[in-house]
Amino acid sequence: MQSTKPKVSIKDLKAASPRWCNNCGDYGALVGIRRFLFERQLDPAHTVNISGIGCSGRMPHYINTYGFHGIHGRAIPVALGMALARPDLSVFIESGDGDALSIGANHLVHGVNKNFNCVFILLDNQIYGLTKNQTSPTTRQGHPTNTQPQGTWLEPINPVQFVLGIGASFVASTADWLPDHFVQTLALAFEHQGFSFIHVAQRCPKFNPGAWDEDHDDWFDFLVHEKGIGADVKKAPTAATVSHDPSDLTEAFRFAQSPKKAFGLFYRDASKPCYDQLLRGVRDKVPKRDPAKLLDAFLI
Ligand code: SF4
Repeated sequence: MQSTKPKVSIKDLKAASPRWCNNCGDYGALVGIRRFLFERQLDPAHTVNISGIGCSGRMPHYINTYGFHGIHGRAIPVALGMALARPDLSVFIESGDGDALSIGANHLVHGVNKNFNCVFILLDNQIYGLTKNQTSPTTRQGHPTNTQPQGTWLEPINPVQFVLGIGASFVASTADWLPDHFVQTLALAFEHQGFSFIHVAQRCPKFNPGAWDEDHDDWFDFLVHEKGIGADVKKAPTAATVSHDPSDLTEAFRFAQSPKKAFGLFYRDASKPCYDQLLRGVRDKVPKRDPAKLLDAFLI
């Protein structure tokens, strides 16, 4: 009789003990990512988590897959290299609002445009947490920080609107305290061929406790659709649900720009070409070089 025991257990996916502050939302994201890897039974030897710098950047240390904790804002070029060289790998990127939307914003633009196959998770706590309370690109206007103690001057960047505007093929939003919704979102993002962008409302009780209010659910809607993500009725039973067809880009923009936050699948376009597939297609058409003649090529 064949054993039905899963090959990979949740325990197998645990690595070092996390070193985040108590009640940090990154714990919820970590548990959600591990749960998804377990439910999907992804082989840790063919999975890689890549990060930049920030509290979010520690994520690869705590998941027992391959991992790469890179430099600030540069997770995307590393991930692109891996996606090109090793299409057999499942590539996940964990980034933060500072990492992805400030120093790494140029890479985010080109990652979205190249639409290479990966899941990009933006953990948005609306602050620089690791360096202790500076204004980030998503800090709300008027919020006092160490760099702008009188209150943050500018309107924050809206990450969902931003990536919709530069042509993302998959855009979803969820929250660290909505575990079922988080895992469903990850599952749909993983299914998508291309650059799957997930915005995560992530709590930072240490430096930005008012950024996301997990105790109430009247400030957000769930976007629901038969081909999208369901509402999280366990964790947010009284949140409103709004039907939204994720192929409708105009409506996706409308929800992204609305003062009321929305969680769910904003947009998905399965027809956008993927850079990694295009490149492999071109490479496969080029006749293989004879290594013995490589030197001749240099000597011409
Ligand atoms: Fe989490 Fe904020 Fe602490 Fe960083 S500073 S570990 S984001 S609570």
